[in-house]
Amino acid sequence: MSALPSVLGHTATIASLWGALSRGALHHAILLEGPEGVGKRLVADRIAMAANCGGASGELALAGITQRPCGRCPTCRQIAAGVHPDVMVLEPDTSRAAAVIPVDAVRTVIRQAQFHRYSAAHRFVIVDPAEAMREAAANALLKTLEEPPVGTGFLLITHNARSLLPTIRSRCQRVRLGAVPEDQLCAWLEGRGMTQVEQIARLALGCPGRALELGTSALEIRTGVRDALLGILRVELGEMFAYTAKLTSGGRAAWTPRVDALLEVIEDLLRDAVIHASRAEVPLLNQDLPHEVERWAQALWPGGIERCTAAVQDCRDDLRVFVPGKTAVDALLCTLRRELGPS
Ligand SMILES: [Zn+2]
Repeated sequence: MSALPSVLGHTATIASLWGALSRGALHHAILLEGPEGVGKRLVADRIAMAANCGGASGELALAGITQRPCGRCPTCRQIAAGVHPDVMVLEPDTSRAAAVIPVDAVRTVIRQAQFHRYSAAHRFVIVDPAEAMREAAANALLKTLEEPPVGTGFLLITHNARSLLPTIRSRCQRVRLGAVPEDQLCAWLEGRGMTQVEQIARLALGCPGRALELGTSALEIRTGVRDALLGILRVELGEMFAYTAKLTSGGRAAWTPRVDALLEVIEDLLRDAVIHASRAEVPLLNQDLPHEVERWAQALWPGGIERCTAAVQDCRDDLRVFVPGKTAVDALLCTLRRELGPS
């Protein structure tokens, strides 16, 4: 029995990591890969806890707590709270504009890793996310991955392994965390008092973190944005321009979330059109709109999908270089109208 809630999904992966731990054969550098919000950091924390948990023996064992990590012993509690001195975390420096892990921070942690451990049997360095290290920082870490200090393990987290230096990837044991099965995710969301869990679970693509972010109210906003989009793609052009003027009114900070939601909704519809056209056995994100998905698939597959996807990317690129929001969104929606043709 453990006081910790079990990690959602990833059962086989965790069993194999725990097996390696119990044999003393855990790789000194593990690259945890998977989409955002799937639970990579949670698994990293649990590895550090399981390697150091003191609860499986002594008093807690007498109380029936025999599973590692126990979640109750001082070590587990400190790691969960992010304050254990032997579990060091490299994260982007949020005080800087770019989300980067500075090379100085990497060097400091590497220096600390050469010292004696405070109390833990195994020290861990968690890098979250590994792609936040630019080349200098990654190279500094690489040297340590080649000759790791005794008793120190590295847990690198990434949702984009391809963006890492190949030499970093090749030094690590790659552990992939895939989507959490939909039934498990739905049950978990229901347990948190959420409604419309099936739709949320689908939109979250099996990532519990994303599902929580979506939540019910965000889902309502998204559905509203989607329905507005489908409406304005059918009305007179002048009416559409009036809509985009309203959508991008106010300061940039005010309209950015609205435009982001619109872009995500368009990407989801394009994804569904591909699934419909290719008859893939994958559930649609817009299951409540089968006719609309069919219309998009018939009008766009295959060349139009590519052109519309490129138009979404162009819109994102334009917004990044401060093209006025209305100009960027108008260009995208005009492309969509042209490609979809008259309804
Ligand atoms: Zn413990």
